[in-house]
Amino acid sequence: MAQFTGKVALVTGGGSGIGEAISKELAAKGADVVVTDIDPAAAERVVQQIVDAGGNASALEQDTAVKEDSEKAVRHAVETYGGLHLAVNNAGIGGRQAPAGETDLQDWDRVIGINLNGVLYGMRYQIPQMLQAGGENCAIVNMASIHGAVAAPGHGAYTAAKHGVVGITKNAAAEYGPHGLRINAVGPGYIRTPLVENSLSAQVREALAGKHPLGRLGTAEEVAHLVSFLLSQKASFMTGGYYLVDGGYTAV
Ligand code: NAD
Repeated sequence: MAQFTGKVALVTGGGSGIGEAISKELAAKGADVVVTDIDPAAAERVVQQIVDAGGNASALEQDTAVKEDSEKAVRHAVETYGGLHLAVNNAGIGGRQAPAGETDLQDWDRVIGINLNGVLYGMRYQIPQMLQAGGENCAIVNMASIHGAVAAPGHGAYTAAKHGVVGITKNAAAEYGPHGLRINAVGPGYIRTPLVENSLSAQVREALAGKHPLGRLGTAEEVAHLVSFLLSQKASFMTGGYYLVDGGYTAV
């Protein structure tokens, strides 16, 4: 029997990059996966690839910055597959570049809305459903970043949101540990995904690669492996943690 057979998983921002790799890995390991994305065609594409590979998945349009959409996503999981056991609050954006004193305040609201509020809105509806399934059968991973620990100059909203993700993860883990529900955050270094490829020039990416002692950017699959581990029973004594997968970026 595959590792996640009988488990229902929800991955936000599953239509691209890290979320896509996580959705595919969980499905390959037997989970029924709800792939949500603000871009429904992207979610559909990933679902089709999962189904073509012999897995089970279902696409749903969701904007993580909209409270009602988080409730809708959990309802979709329950109505489609009968419950919810695993959730990855992964959706996130980069935002505009500016130092704090010149922040575009609309951009601030947008980044905080998706990258931080979206994580709490997700857990707000995922956790009660998971408690119904028995917390010890469930787990959540929230997508932070190395910028949950260190600055990203020019990207204050991103840094603030990711630090917030680490904080709310610790709080939720402390609150639901007594129910057996494990909740962790992960902190990727720079990963080769459309987010990075489309927003940063080749020159900047090259410079960024040099800030990782391993001398390169990571892959979405390298992040997915960690997320899958944290969601699994192999991580049964791990909760409230913030786990880096950063090629050594924060060690220097
Ligand atoms: P990506 O742009 O490749 O994929 C993000 C997906 O999220 C896209 O499909 C997009 O349509 C979707 N999305 C955007 N806004 C949304 C919203 N409001 N609601 C639902 N879906 C939405 O990005 P990625 O690199 O895979 O990033 C995924 C997560 O990983 C983000 O939280 C990001 O901050 C984090 N992260 C990325 C890196 C990196 O270097 N790529 C590093 C550390 C952390």
